[in-house]
Amino acid sequence: MALRPVLQFPDARLKEKSLPVEEVTDELRQLAADMIEVMYDEPGIGLAAPQVGEAVRLIVMDTEWTEEDGEKNPLVLLNPEILERAGTATSQEGCLSVPDFTADVERAERVRVRGTDLDGNEIVEDAEGLRSFCFQHEIDHLDGILFIDRISRLKRGMYVKKRKKALRLEEEEDGEAARAL
Ligand SMILES: [Zn+2]
Repeated sequence: MALRPVLQFPDARLKEKSLPVEEVTDELRQLAADMIEVMYDEPGIGLAAPQVGEAVRLIVMDTEWTEEDGEKNPLVLLNPEILERAGTATSQEGCLSVPDFTADVERAERVRVRGTDLDGNEIVEDAEGLRSFCFQHEIDHLDGILFIDRISRLKRGMYVKKRKKALRLEEEEDGEAARAL
């Protein structure tokens, strides 16, 4: 079966606020499994449900995994929330839903995150560095926020312009291919 496609900016569904998970159904377990598959396939170190078109508060992450190492240890977190933030730090971010772009983003250096796993156990984790930024980035997705919403208006504007041009070119190519039939 084909993997779920990752929605890309400027898809309006990426701007929606996701709803809390009320109950762990078979459908939700399947969604989490699908998301883990997509995350490793892309590859990425995190993915939020709205990125595959499901507006529910579910994220998956594996900040340790590398293609070379191959050891997989995915975290699935339902209804994640940030309880505490400390310090600030800047790091370069990218996103599977924001093609061909990275930028420096300022975020909390350390966070305490709480959520539940698929078996209903509460998980509380203190994260710092990359893992802290990843939690903040993925939880932002659940509120309809992309990392490009956290950079300067000027930089964002430049990216939006570039992205629109790329999409226009894609459309033109599709159009030409259709005429060539
Ligand atoms: Zn993202």
